[in-house]
Amino acid sequence: MSTVGTQLGAFIGGQWVAGDGEEIEVLNPTTGDVIGTIVTSSDAQVDHAVQAAKEAFESWRRRAVLERVELCRHAFTLCEERLEETSEMISREVGKPIRDSRIEMRRGTVEHFRRAAEDVLRKAGKVLPDSMETSNTKRIIVVQEPVGVVAAISPWNFPIDIAAIPIIYGLALGCTVVWKPSEYAPFCAQLFADVLHDAGFPNGTVNVVNGRGDTGSALVRHADVGAVVFTGSVETGEKVARDAGLKNRVLELGGNGPQIVLKDADIDKAADAAARGCFFLSGQCCTAAERVLVEESIKDEFVEALRQRAGALRIGDPMQEETDMGPLRTAAVLARTQAHIQDAVDKGASVVYGGSFHDQFHDPTIVDGVTSDMRIAREETFGPVAPIMTFSSIEEAIAIANETDFGLTAAVFTRSLDDAWYVAEELRHGTVHVNRSTNTWDQLAAFGGMKKSGTGRELSTWIIDALTETKQITFSPRER
Ligand code: NAD
Repeated sequence: MSTVGTQLGAFIGGQWVAGDGEEIEVLNPTTGDVIGTIVTSSDAQVDHAVQAAKEAFESWRRRAVLERVELCRHAFTLCEERLEETSEMISREVGKPIRDSRIEMRRGTVEHFRRAAEDVLRKAGKVLPDSMETSNTKRIIVVQEPVGVVAAISPWNFPIDIAAIPIIYGLALGCTVVWKPSEYAPFCAQLFADVLHDAGFPNGTVNVVNGRGDTGSALVRHADVGAVVFTGSVETGEKVARDAGLKNRVLELGGNGPQIVLKDADIDKAADAAARGCFFLSGQCCTAAERVLVEESIKDEFVEALRQRAGALRIGDPMQEETDMGPLRTAAVLARTQAHIQDAVDKGASVVYGGSFHDQFHDPTIVDGVTSDMRIAREETFGPVAPIMTFSSIEEAIAIANETDFGLTAAVFTRSLDDAWYVAEELRHGTVHVNRSTNTWDQLAAFGGMKKSGTGRELSTWIIDALTETKQITFSPRER
């Protein structure tokens, strides 16, 4: 196991090596202090990492499934033992409240090892009958074989959990991996790479290259990469889609999720959900409620309930146990949040709670009177803002909810089963929650977006198609 150093390079073929590119400082968003530096990987070093993964694949794919499963079980234990150290590093690098960093590690990352072990052990192929000839001399066997080298490219908001899905499922299925973590969170990635290595995954099965978009792009374009699993913004996702060409891919991109509150809803429950939807991780979540659509007749009551919840949030040092909201990770997110609020105000909306910031800390903010022409309604803000929009019929709510280019996660609040069903079926979003916050998910359920929010699905067995090639093998047994 390596100790987290002040300068980080790449992990190739089972060892940490110096990067061969430029140096980038990694800042703690809470204090502005330098946590350390990374030295990026050039195209040549990315190639070196992919070659190490390609070489390791030839023996790794032939290993018994039980051996791969045993390593996952061992890594589960090791990752749990090091959970606190990794969680603290996530909070330092990303500004995530420590309680939420632990949840990212415990319910997400650590459990992926156990889930992958179970899923891979129970993974069965298919035997199909002959549907073309009237004979009994054909058997068609359909199997899914590991695709080869998987490129995993991850964002900073869930810096380990999100990357861990393709890494752990890829390894369990017999793939090898090259990971490019976010340049804003490379040191927690180092700790996780060490877990995998120390658990016994053979040299070359897991490799890490550090850097910005150019390093990621070199990895995506590499001819020996078989599948790309990318999570990040729509803008980057569109470039990755072009660079990936004909490779298998999963693209998990941004969102502009609506939470719809119909007039018969339980207002307390809907306000609790909106507080989580808009302010969890200071709004920096792809599944955030980026628009809160409230039926006109209950709007004032709902906004008052949400104001109370916003006022109860504790904002401050993410390392403190009681903190609910930490800083925004980047200056760009802070600037966009402010720009969206200003644009909304300029076009007639009003800030009814919050609106200010100091350093990287932004108030939980409620903006009333938001309309579809405002940037805050059309774009992903990714900050702690609840934009309130109103509607006067269920059809109007559905139309507003669907008028976005995004389609990741939506929620509807109502006591009517009939209305819930109707809205859920009409929404063009990959997930629709009924009477639950947009900021919830289940690790066994298919996760992913429609429209510009992405392509493909992940979590548990849903990612297996992207990490494998499906093959049919036909046999002709003798006639009986
Ligand atoms: P980003 O798109 O800026 O970066 C994501 C990753 O891509 C980083 O590692 C970055 O270095 C890399 N990258 C940048 N340019 C690249 C290129 N041309 N080729 C390959 N890689 C490149 O996103 P971010 O700011 O890190 O994360 C926030 C975004 O991620 C938000 O839009 C959020 O909604 C989205 N997100 C989506 C999900 C999901 O599951 N749908 C989950 C978390 C975050």
